[in-house]
Amino acid sequence: MKYGIMGGTFSPIHIGHLILAEEVRQRYSLDKVFFVPSGTPPHKIGRVYASAAERCEMVELAVRENANFEVLDIEICRSGYSYTVDTVRALKHRHPDDEFFFVTGADALTGLDTWHNFEELAKEVVFIGAGRHGVTHSGLVQKTDFLAQKYGFKIELVETPLIAVSSSEIRRRVAAGESIRYLVPREVEDYIAAKALYLSRHPLYEKMFELTKNRMSSVRFLHSLEVAAEARRLAHIFGEDHEKAELAGLIHDYCKEISDDDARKYIEKYGIEWHSCFAEKPGLAHGEIAAGMLLESGLVDDAAVLDAVRWHTYGSGQMSQLAKIVYVADITEPTRRPFAGQHEVRAALRYSLDAAILAWQPFNEALIRGEFHPNNAKMFESIVSGKNVQT
Ligand code: ATP
Ligand code: MG
Repeated sequence: MKYGIMGGTFSPIHIGHLILAEEVRQRYSLDKVFFVPSGTPPHKIGRVYASAAERCEMVELAVRENANFEVLDIEICRSGYSYTVDTVRALKHRHPDDEFFFVTGADALTGLDTWHNFEELAKEVVFIGAGRHGVTHSGLVQKTDFLAQKYGFKIELVETPLIAVSSSEIRRRVAAGESIRYLVPREVEDYIAAKALYLSRHPLYEKMFELTKNRMSSVRFLHSLEVAAEARRLAHIFGEDHEKAELAGLIHDYCKEISDDDARKYIEKYGIEWHSCFAEKPGLAHGEIAAGMLLESGLVDDAAVLDAVRWHTYGSGQMSQLAKIVYVADITEPTRRPFAGQHEVRAALRYSLDAAILAWQPFNEALIRGEFHPNNAKMFESIVSGKNVQT
């Protein structure tokens, strides 16, 4: 069998990707083309504007009626970052007797030698390179000749219709409220609208993105991105400010990785009310600590955003809608491992944020572990009574 691999960020997938894949499939008599949405690649992180799961779902929607195309979620399922060379090796391991072709557009080809472990990758597959609007054919030939000589890289250049569409242009259009009809499949267009993807961002988003990324492990950072996306989606559904929700989701774990000693120091420094649950685990206060630190440093001064960060762990008796959104998004973000209560919380969320919070209560892992903070009961009480409860 002969297989094509189309790697990409696919944020979102568009007709340029699909036409390229179909052309190459036909010319090379490929049995199948695998679309492999990337995890969150280091060179793109921050500019992708949709979570890994969302990008994967859009590809799924775009290819599902075509039996020759298939989505593989191997890159997005791997925790941390993913590299093409690992993907290709995994595929070859699964299909040891088959031939693989890696399909790319000219823009991606010109930067290939900067990819992680490129030399190894070059030994594993034959590349098929297609032209792309904005890259001259002679420039491409020169670059690929150079790569072929230096790394023994095997590439075939194909001529395909040049489709001047890019994901970045689609994102720009959505943010500007312009139409993307016919540039992406209809199902993808609908999905983008339903998930509130590619909308405008909070002015602090880019800066906080970098700062947050530098404060935590890559796994936690990817979780933060998922919470940001989920919070934006919920804000869109429940009529809340999507920019604030996304920002609060992004920074909610800003202080999650501080040491216990530091947490004790900050609890005192920011005048956080002491509760016995902090004796064993001062880090439980990371939401309140983050709000204190972000305010003190002047990084974030939006009270509503800070409040959502402050109460995301154990809630409070006076949760704003924004705070509830971040609290729930932390539970329902799609890449969390399956956990007890997931189904109940998601089902309740179709009804309301309050219902989701109440549905979570019996499953709340922190409570089960005995990390009981009194705010949690106050949040519960305020939702049930419909009145604020003093914290
Ligand atoms: P962005 O604008 O965010 O960079 P993109 O449109 O380039 O997005 P990617 O997901 O980065 O999309 O691309 C995946 C692969 O598809 C790359 O190899 C890229 O060169 C190729 N590709 C994307 N759009 C086209 C197009 N219009 N014509 C040919 N190849 C394309
Ligand atoms: Mg690109």
